Amino acid sequence: MELWGKKTDRGYTVVIGCGRLGANLANTLSDGGGNVLIIDKNKDAFRKLSPSFGGLAVTGDATDLSALREAQINKADVVVAVTNDDNVNIMAAQLAREMFQNRRVIARLYDPERECVYRELGIDTICPAVLSAQEIARILSEPDAAEERVRESSI
Ligand code: AMP
Repeated sequence: MELWGKKTDRGYTVVIGCGRLGANLANTLSDGGGNVLIIDKNKDAFRKLSPSFGGLAVTGDATDLSALREAQINKADVVVAVTNDDNVNIMAAQLAREMFQNRRVIARLYDPERECVYRELGIDTICPAVLSAQEIARILSEPDAAEERVRESSI
């Protein structure tokens, strides 16, 4: 199976999990001209892809080797595992690194305490809980914009 035609030189990203984060990422990368293949075990999840999505969608369990082979994960420049299950993400990320020799692997992690496991395996992590805490702390460190607007409108 030849996955891509003319866009091959733009890099190939495999996104695992077509949930709110995965679908958003796949849409963004595809709209930016990237070659994207997205895998989800539930085919209804692909409804979240935008009509402009120009990549491929494969139904399969990301912990199943045949699904990863079908996605030609070995050819991916980047693999991003963003299901809602840390165990699935770590397993898929580990298979991508060790079995399919992907150099660049990023995984979503709900439990920040497990980050060290991923680091040892050479997998980059995105932890929504940590990122959200940092963002809230940043907002709190700034003047209250909402209160300023209320004050200005009452002058
Ligand atoms: P969300 O919580 O909205 O980011 O959605 C997570 C997505 O991950 C859902 O669409 C799930 O169907 C998908 N998912 C969960 N486990 C697996 C798995 N083992 N293989 C493929 N997709 C999965």
